[in-house]
Formats: sequence, C-alpha cells, structure tokens
Amino acid sequence: MIRKLVSNVIFFVFLCATVLVPQKGSCSEGLPYSTYAPVLMYHDLKPVPLNGFDVTPEAFAQQLDWLKANGYRTLSMEEYIDCIDKGSFPEKSVLITFDDGYKGIYDYAFPELKKRDMKAVFFIITSCIDGELPGYPYITAKELKEMAKDPHISIGSHTLTHPSDLREENYWDNLNEFKMSKRYLELITGRKCDGLAYPCGSYDEYVICAVKDAGYRAAFAVNTRGTMGEDTRWSVPRIYMGLSMCENNNAPFKRHVQNYAAMDDEMFTEQYYWIYQ
Ligand SMILES: [Zn+2]
Repeated sequence: MIRKLVSNVIFFVFLCATVLVPQKGSCSEGLPYSTYAPVLMYHDLKPVPLNGFDVTPEAFAQQLDWLKANGYRTLSMEEYIDCIDKGSFPEKSVLITFDDGYKGIYDYAFPELKKRDMKAVFFIITSCIDGELPGYPYITAKELKEMAKDPHISIGSHTLTHPSDLREENYWDNLNEFKMSKRYLELITGRKCDGLAYPCGSYDEYVICAVKDAGYRAAFAVNTRGTMGEDTRWSVPRIYMGLSMCENNNAPFKRHVQNYAAMDDEMFTEQYYWIYQ
C-alpha cells in the first residue's frame, strides 16, 4: 500500500516536471543569421542628445534619405516576420526599430517616416506609457493609438516593466512580462502584437521558451549573433544605432547596413557608448 502510494507520488512529480518545466533547447528554429535583412535599433531622437543612444532628428532624416537614394525599402515588422516564415527577404530591404517608447518617436521619427512613406516598428514598455524618466518623457496612450492607426507603423512589446536581465528572472515571471504587455498593446492599438524586443538584449533558452509560449512570432536581440545556434527567429540581431553611427556623414551607419550579412559580433558592439553614466 505504502509502496504504491510512493510510486504514485513519484509518478505525479515526474508528470508535473515534464509538463510544467520548460524544456531547454525545445525552441530551435530560424534561418542562418546571415540570411536576415538588416535591422536597425534606435532608442530616441533628440535635437540635443543626452546619451550615446540618442540620434538627432536631422541625422535620422539623412539616414532615411540615404536608404531611399540607395534603393533600400523598409519593411513593416509583420512583413519582416513573414519573410522569416518564407525563408527569404527581398533584395535591399531593411527593418527600422525603436526601443523603449520615448516621446521622440512621436515628435520626430513618426513625422520623418510619414513624409517619406517609410515603415518602422516601435517596441513599447507598457508600464511606462504616459510616464517620464529624467530627460526622457514617454509617449502617451493617445499618441500610441494615433501611430498604431498608420499601417506603416508596427507596435511591438518591450515587456511590461523592462527587467534589466531576463536571464535572472524565472520562466513564469518572464511569461507574465511578455503576455501582459502583448495583451495591453493589442487592447490599445486594436492590432496583433507579433514581435518583442528583449530589454538590454538579454535572453537564453528559457527566455526564448517564454516568449514563444506567450504567442509571439519572433523576438529581437541587440547585437549578439551566432550564440543561440538555430534559434535565430527568437534572437534576430540588430545594429545598435547611436551618435557614433552618425559620425563622418553617417559613414558607420552606411557601412553597417551594407555589411550586415557578413558582420561579426565585434562590429555590432564597437559603436556602443554612453556620454553620461
Ligand atoms: Zn530598452
């Protein structure tokens, strides 16, 4: 009798472990990194930059003009993910992304994109909407709604509270961050939220399982590539755009866009720096 009880308990624990614990390495899928079209990661546009990750509206406008003049076309986030599904991207296509959701995207990026009929995705920290960090006001729900009405603008999630390292959080907390932000954005915009950008680009196998289980179609990293084997759909590498990319008439920006497929990790990280700590 006791033996039977013990074996039932062991069986139950085994069952729970199999069903509830995300399995490492069970999320493999994607194309080789070199297949992807370039993805640019901006944060804020500011006439007077405060940090290395700010870009002036003038430099941003010049970069858009250069993309156009050189035959590049911008994809929406949904189109970009469709290309991952299909396994190929159109020649000279590019995805423009903005992280965090600062007010500069509404004041400067949105009008510059609109003027040129170009597309971009804004990854939003949902708990920050209508709020403000020192020197960095956030967009309001009203502004977000207005931008989401434009089919050229996609809205993605940058989580609920922007944990600084998702690898330190447990699977369930991450799942909550990913699910809640997705649901909130879909309610506000009335559109599906298919993509997520990892805060500070942090991810591992368990983070990837949570983002997949939350119902996304792809997730965007920062500058890492090649570290996740075949999980490229869940770690799309992005070029870190900032002040240093705009030097010498945007020469680093142009070099990165043109050489994206062949870039190694070093090229992705060299441009990152802070003006103020
Ligand atoms: Zn962020």
